[in-house]
Amino acid sequence: MNFDEERKTMVEVQLRGRGLKDERVLKAMEEIPRHRFVSKEQEQSAYSDHPLPIGEGQTISQPYMVALMTECMELEGNEKVLEIGTGCGYQAAILAKLAKEVYSIERVEKLSLKAKEILAELGYTNVKLKVGDGTKGWEEYSPYQALIVTAGSPDIPQTLLDQLSEGGRMVIPVGGSFSQELVVARKRKGKVERRKVCGCVFVPLIGEFGWKR
Ligand code: SAM
Repeated sequence: MNFDEERKTMVEVQLRGRGLKDERVLKAMEEIPRHRFVSKEQEQSAYSDHPLPIGEGQTISQPYMVALMTECMELEGNEKVLEIGTGCGYQAAILAKLAKEVYSIERVEKLSLKAKEILAELGYTNVKLKVGDGTKGWEEYSPYQALIVTAGSPDIPQTLLDQLSEGGRMVIPVGGSFSQELVVARKRKGKVERRKVCGCVFVPLIGEFGWKR
């Protein structure tokens, strides 16, 4: 299987073809070997137009959703960003190409350890991972210019908003436990502006300021 060709087609058809425009995001999606973040059994489907299982009942999002959420973060290269839900580390790798520093929290230790391994293997040095409840954020390195939550939340956790800088963007699926709306929240002059992007389906954000289980 020619993964480079698969990846090129994925970018042209699934991303550009659906209107995504941020050239930096498209380039990162074309460069990063998504197949390295999934199991051998899933490798052949790594560039297909849907989410895939990554173990522990969790998923890696559809390529389009990863690219769309990243585009909504409006990254230029100098940002410090926080991701909630490391999963297999693929989204963190995309962010590492597009921002200066990436902090990512995962509640399932096994996933975080696996993600750490592959990110190190691929040579990423600007990603810091932590195991814990991401709904509380990671205060130590705050404020963040951009924040992404890759699990569905009943609402936007105030703790995360507090760790966002002035002008900062947060991308988060908000809604019920089975389906949500992708929301971009922007902090402007201390106020929070919300924009709905589209409907989406994510695994639940489980934690003190998310779903209780
Ligand atoms: N961004 C990931 C990737 O590129 O593989 C996909 C993430 S998956 C859709 C959502 C992840 O959020 C799961 O791995 C899940 O364990 C994690 N999660 C759920 N609640 C969490 C919480 N409170 N803190 C941190 N991670 C959480």
